[in-house]
Amino acid sequence: MEKKLICVSCPIGCEITARIENGVVTSVTGNRCPRGEAYARQEAIDPMRVLPTSVQVIGGDLPLVSVKTDRPVPKRLIWQIMDYIRALSIEAPVKIGQVLAEDIMGTEANLVATREVRPVQERSPSRASPLKQSRAGSSRSPDRTGEQ
Ligand code: SF4
Repeated sequence: MEKKLICVSCPIGCEITARIENGVVTSVTGNRCPRGEAYARQEAIDPMRVLPTSVQVIGGDLPLVSVKTDRPVPKRLIWQIMDYIRALSIEAPVKIGQVLAEDIMGTEANLVATREVRPVQERSPSRASPLKQSRAGSSRSPDRTGEQ
């Protein structure tokens, strides 16, 4: 059996053909460098992907924090890993680069935060909602005073 692949290891994007016999890659052609051969051997048998997603945050100024695995995980495990991540929650604050889960499902990949989430009480005045600001302003307006 042959598998046609596009190498994603660099922008050139070589078209690679991997020949597979009895579950083993027996030849790789079309690659311009050894990285392409390594990519094709992995991709043809057990593709791997970095997984970007999000995790629920408790008590944060955002309800979710974006996360990603710090190394590729087997594509065949993506849905099981997503179920695992969906069940997670983390209390604010969350720092960029913070490890939220280690060695996810034995893949050796850690789940790391890719943005910061502050606790709700640390929200700065400049990020207060426009609704609150407009209410504060209207209570001091001459028109409202005149209505009373
Ligand atoms: S085989 Fe080498 S040159 Fe071709 S896309 Fe892959 S990394 Fe780039």
